[in-house]
Amino acid sequence: MTELSASVPVSTPQPGAAEYPGLDAWRDLPVVQQPTWQDSKVYESSLAELSALPPLVFAGEVDVLRGRLAEAAEGRAFLLQGGDCAETFEGATADKISARVRTILQMAVVLTYGASLPVIKMGRMAGQFAKPRSSNDETRDGVTLPAYRGDMVNGFDFTPETRGHDASRLVRAYHTSASTLNLIRAFTQGGFADLRLVHHWNKGFTANPAHSRYESLAREIDRAVRFMDACGADFEALKRVEFFASHEALVLDYERALTRIDSRTGLPYDTSGHFLWIGERTRQIDGAHVDFLSRVRNPIGVKLGPTSTADDALRLIDKLDPEREPGRLTFITRMGAGNIREKLPPLVEKVTASGAKVLWVTDPMHGNTVTSPNGYKTRNFDDVIDEVRGFFEVHKGLGTFPGGMHMEMTGDDVAECLGGADPIDQDAFLDRYESVCDPRLNHMQSLEMAFLVAGALSKRS
Ligand code: PEP
Ligand code: MN
Repeated sequence: MTELSASVPVSTPQPGAAEYPGLDAWRDLPVVQQPTWQDSKVYESSLAELSALPPLVFAGEVDVLRGRLAEAAEGRAFLLQGGDCAETFEGATADKISARVRTILQMAVVLTYGASLPVIKMGRMAGQFAKPRSSNDETRDGVTLPAYRGDMVNGFDFTPETRGHDASRLVRAYHTSASTLNLIRAFTQGGFADLRLVHHWNKGFTANPAHSRYESLAREIDRAVRFMDACGADFEALKRVEFFASHEALVLDYERALTRIDSRTGLPYDTSGHFLWIGERTRQIDGAHVDFLSRVRNPIGVKLGPTSTADDALRLIDKLDPEREPGRLTFITRMGAGNIREKLPPLVEKVTASGAKVLWVTDPMHGNTVTSPNGYKTRNFDDVIDEVRGFFEVHKGLGTFPGGMHMEMTGDDVAECLGGADPIDQDAFLDRYESVCDPRLNHMQSLEMAFLVAGALSKRS
């Protein structure tokens, strides 16, 4: 785990923010990966504005999600979490949002069939606007500027103006999240998620001759849908799906300002999203991120990379889930295809032996990032698949449940990851590489992933 030594001074508790004992304790702890805002007045007024705006999600929805994740931790549901590495303000268009939601729904249908289990659908969406970076700066042609830290902090264009840390972006991140969520809610409640429609979209995938090997599974799903129809299944009810929003809780001022006291329970919820995770670079046990998230009621994820020890995992459980509450804690492992079979077993074994019940999810993306010969940050589809396979093998060997997957994906026809049955090669990057951060599986690669994982899940059951 890389720790940036630079820790910026943080201000005193924000006037107007919801009060609850301990919510500002993080301000006295070491904190990494925070912006250094250029204008303190804009900073103060942006946080005051955020503190007064309505919550983006409701505490009751957050509780529903915790219950769903508890089911997954028990092996009775599977989590599918996916979306951009970094959402952008410009990318929050109806077309792009709907393509992403649609792809997640399409993947979920395939996985539901494969697992014979409910699939919890969750976007890395409506808040995924801040990025941890391994270096504070970026140098291009001898010019050094602050690194891009996500649209919530600065812009991607390589100019001094854009790369400065501008706190008014916090408010724009909120409004962009609100309109993204609004569209997601409309789609998933308004008929767009009709099972028959989603199934019909999947036919486009199998119509491609490159995907012929998935035909038999696709046919089985088709028969299952017809069977349901013949039995008089209530497809009206299946027009609505639950869809949850998640992001990395990185910029703590933003998360703090959106934390509200739930009127039903009197407890604090971070209403910036349903599910929040702590990244590989900010999971220090005595650090600010772990402290802050230990104090809100949302279900919490923690990324665990290849340097994680079983002791780290146990200490995170004690701090983040002292009550051992089902659904509260998810470990998202991102070991790399070459490491997973060796590094994951001791973690799962010791956590299981401790009696704690966490949800284990694979992130097969972040341990498999490479640079293509022509200089793009990329991932090989085969490595991604291999990490997922390793994750399933490890859990099978230990008798534990592989509870979900966390993907960087998009609904668009981009070229960012190499390979797949209808392969992307590096020449395609020149025209179709759009990510401002990590490479995502494109629409077809995402569906292929779902078909492959569905095959593995069905063998398991
Ligand atoms: C991410 O999810 O985009 C990310 C930065 O992951 P990690 O913290 O696992 O490196
Ligand atoms: Mn990423």
